[in-house]
Amino acid sequence: MHNIRDVDVVIVGAGLAGLAAALELKKKNYSFMVIEARNRYGGRLHSIKTDEGVTIDLGAQWVGTNHKRLKRLIADFGLHTTPTYTKGKTIFQVCGKKRNGKGEIPPLSPIGLLDMLNLKRKINNLIKQIPAETPWTSPVAHELDKQTIDSFIQTNMFSQEGRSFYGMVVEEALCAKLYEVSALNLLWSIKTTGSGNYLLEAENEWIVEGAQVLAERIAESLGNSIVYHSPVEQIIYDKDFGIVHTANNCWKAQRVIIAIPPNLSARIKFSPPLPAQRVQLSDRAGLASVTKMIFVYEQPFWRKDGLNGKVYSDQAPVQLIMDSSPPHGRKGVLTVLISGECARLMGTLEASNRQQEVIKALVYFFGSKASHPQSVYEKNWSEDEWTRGGYGTHFATGVLTQFGTALSEPVSSLYWAGTETATEWRTYMEGAVQSGQNIAVEVISTIR
Ligand SMILES: Cc1cc2nc3c(=O)[nH]c(=O)nc-3n(C[C@H](O)[C@H](O)[C@H](O)COP(=O)(O)OP(=O)(O)OC[C@H]3O[C@@H](n4cnc5c(N)ncnc54)[C@H](O)[C@@H]3O)c2cc1C
Repeated sequence: MHNIRDVDVVIVGAGLAGLAAALELKKKNYSFMVIEARNRYGGRLHSIKTDEGVTIDLGAQWVGTNHKRLKRLIADFGLHTTPTYTKGKTIFQVCGKKRNGKGEIPPLSPIGLLDMLNLKRKINNLIKQIPAETPWTSPVAHELDKQTIDSFIQTNMFSQEGRSFYGMVVEEALCAKLYEVSALNLLWSIKTTGSGNYLLEAENEWIVEGAQVLAERIAESLGNSIVYHSPVEQIIYDKDFGIVHTANNCWKAQRVIIAIPPNLSARIKFSPPLPAQRVQLSDRAGLASVTKMIFVYEQPFWRKDGLNGKVYSDQAPVQLIMDSSPPHGRKGVLTVLISGECARLMGTLEASNRQQEVIKALVYFFGSKASHPQSVYEKNWSEDEWTRGGYGTHFATGVLTQFGTALSEPVSSLYWAGTETATEWRTYMEGAVQSGQNIAVEVISTIR
């Protein structure tokens, strides 16, 4: 038996949610320990420096205009954001046609645009009836949770172009097929952003130093209250305490905050076993497939051709491309997001073949200069043991209305956090911060 160390709160997971919770506890002078499985902080944040000296993000990167909590942390920890490069045309590849457009407005026919506008209006009306905290209690919950996003789009849109474009954007955002995810899940996620309009602003800027540096700075400020390389294997709990076991250590706390995605909580042994509702929820909570690939060039050559580096595509193998060139502009960086089915299929190729496939697509969009990147970096998040997919958790039909309450309902001394539990910007970094800050306040109110 290991020595049991006592603290007020144990936090499982040093992602943004766990770190944000820890910061709040520190401010209020509670004792805590953050226990992290990986040998690093940040979870789904993963920044590296390339051989060319450019910082790139293989995980979360973009910050939205109204990600207010995240922006406060970025400022408090002395980091900086840079606006996403938007000068020039965006390339849209919809229904097999490649066209240039302005900003986020797709160059669809007037019918296609009208269809998009109608859908937006319908969604904005529907989300008024969906509470961000408890979407399953909405009067429209059951109707929406019976439908996949695919059938929702088929029912509520009338043009092939509109369906194709909207479907592509949503598939990219969820990293999943439209027929895999419940329409309630989609509308709830939109609700947590405030409205469909804000979604268009979710990628307005990014952290120059790298998103993971925010996690690094927070972790440093917490001193010795974090342990790494320590997957939590078992939690023994009752209403007054939790005992958290790793292979080599053990902590006892009045409260335990579990700040990991629900699919991973299913891998921890709980004694007594968790309520059936929670077990069944986490068994249905796998993350979808995503690979992020980054191509570094001598220069952002596409800018001279009047392109802003952004591509939306409904053709394999890429769904979204963004310009992530450093603000000094002396290197060109294209970030490619390969999601859902493409990520699964591309994952079966050798790395060099996969990269060649994507380079072919880059040449198609940006011309022959794209054929010779100086270097390529990639991360398949489905292969990452401590995330198992991306970007966040989305639920199939019937899950939220049957098991949704268990997502954030405490179980005795156990409290759930993580972006999946957020009521603002769920599945984004902002959601992770909100969930961590809120759960810390809730837990503090229960500590004797
Ligand atoms: C490729 C990719 C791109 C993304 N892009 C963006 C973006 O541009 N903007 C944006 O806002 N969001 C983006 N996201 C989403 C964003 O990364 C997440 O919403 C956010 O980082 C989640 O933080 P979290 O703390 O809730 O969870 P996580 O970051 O998953 O943290 C959970 C932590 O718990 C640890 N853990 C798991 N199990 C155990 C265990 N048993 N014991 C101990 N520790 C454990 C994990 O190692 C991890 O460190 C992206 C995600 C991915 C994968």
